[in-house]
Amino acid sequence: MVTIGVPRALLYYIYFPMWQRFLTDLGCKVVLSPPTNERILNLGTQATVDEVCAPVKVAFGHVLDLADKVDYVFVPRLVSVEPRAYICPKLMGLPDMVKHSGNKMPELLSPDVDLSRGKMSIARALSEARHTLGKSVWPTLRAFYLSLGENHKVEQRLMSGLTPEEAFHGTAWRRTPGVRMKVAVLGHPYNVYDPVLSMSLIEQLRRSGVDVVTAEMLPQHKIDVGLQGLSKELFWTLSKKVLGAGLYFVKTPREVDGIIVLSSFGCGLESLIADLLERNARRSEFPFMHLIGDEHSGEAGVVTRVEAFIDMVKGRSEHASNISSHGNLQHRPTSTT
Ligand code: SF4
Repeated sequence: MVTIGVPRALLYYIYFPMWQRFLTDLGCKVVLSPPTNERILNLGTQATVDEVCAPVKVAFGHVLDLADKVDYVFVPRLVSVEPRAYICPKLMGLPDMVKHSGNKMPELLSPDVDLSRGKMSIARALSEARHTLGKSVWPTLRAFYLSLGENHKVEQRLMSGLTPEEAFHGTAWRRTPGVRMKVAVLGHPYNVYDPVLSMSLIEQLRRSGVDVVTAEMLPQHKIDVGLQGLSKELFWTLSKKVLGAGLYFVKTPREVDGIIVLSSFGCGLESLIADLLERNARRSEFPFMHLIGDEHSGEAGVVTRVEAFIDMVKGRSEHASNISSHGNLQHRPTSTT
């Protein structure tokens, strides 16, 4: 049986159920790398050039972790997954970066998916995968057809407030009953859900008694509401979702008590959307915090900032609506002034 390694990084957080179904239906054994840890981060950091963002370094670490355990590592080249929108160029070039990194790398299974070139790109990707795996046409088409429904199956679990890891693997977080604060944690999924890159932000908030909602937990129609009225349509698929979710929360402030954006140092797309969101949040006086991380970030610094943010949001809602969420006191007239 052919063994395929799937790195627990990057678009794993979106497409894993579909990939897993496709590969297992083709008779392959799927091996998933473990959750990111310091060893994987160090492996990736040493194997890449300094300039790439931390999520790509982490992905390299996962590929290297799988290298000796599998026949192939699955690193698809995703260029475009919807019309008129694209995936980040660093992800488009990932298979080449892995192959030519100068490290001893495993064989890659890297079908190209580029829907900007039309639906025939899927046929080409399937043909590439089936030739590498030595499968015939009909089983490949059947496996692909069956895999299409897999992501819909986990959608309900995501909408109920589970993270992709919890939704994919059937583990559930138990929410304690009662009225709790709710904070939106927004960013590219490989940052938000990776335990090292996010410095366990979601767990930290939950432990502090705060409910968390992310872009993946929002139905598409709410994200579309957020994107309505933008002067120009964003053509980056992942960033569009983050921006849509953030703008939706700013437009409907009763849904969450604050927004935390998590981004990677050196990421152009994330700095653009974080800035757009911050401007909108400021205009609406909506509690907002932007955390920028890289492979050197320490959890202690994040803990302090998150605690301060929670205290600020609580204080603001319970005692003083004139405390700014951005550090400047806003002198609003009161009945006694
Ligand atoms: S969008 Fe940003 S964080 Fe994501 S892979 Fe590209 S550069 Fe890295």
